Amino acid sequence: MPDVISIQPFGEIDPMIIRSLEDVLTSSFHCDIEVLSPLDMPLHAFSARRNQFSAPTILRRITRLEVGEGRKVLSVTNDDLYVRGRNYIFGQAQVNGVYAVISLYRLRTGDMLNFIERVRKEAVHEIGHTFGLLHCDRHDCVMRFSENAEETDAKPITFCDDHRMLLEEK
Ligand SMILES: [Zn+2]
Ligand SMILES: [Zn+2]
Repeated sequence: MPDVISIQPFGEIDPMIIRSLEDVLTSSFHCDIEVLSPLDMPLHAFSARRNQFSAPTILRRITRLEVGEGRKVLSVTNDDLYVRGRNYIFGQAQVNGVYAVISLYRLRTGDMLNFIERVRKEAVHEIGHTFGLLHCDRHDCVMRFSENAEETDAKPITFCDDHRMLLEEK
């Protein structure tokens, strides 16, 4: 387990979202949380044709941040993210790496509690990837891939037994 997960806001992120991310990352990964000063979205990551930002380019941007041994970085943006071949994604991470990004854009809904719960699930999912966890077929696992927000709603925020065990070995 890393000692610290750093939350890196891109732009202005609702403090309530940041606080709930701090809570869920602490309880899921048993680590301390540090909230970094916001950065601007890198303009070269923007695709005018798609009106979205490239998630791989955002990840490359944050790999330039200096992080200490055993740290993870979760970046958070309000902007819409894509990877080639998909209309949008909720987030992306380096599997068995350090860096992850989530977008709040497609998770928003009129129901604030539901919105926050979605954000928390996608954050745990992406940080799970940085611990080397891959997608899970099981319905009782946060590592299940969500193609849309309804699928995010349907999965739990916790790991299945196998993934929980893998995580505890880290
Ligand atoms: Zn995933
Ligand atoms: Zn699982």
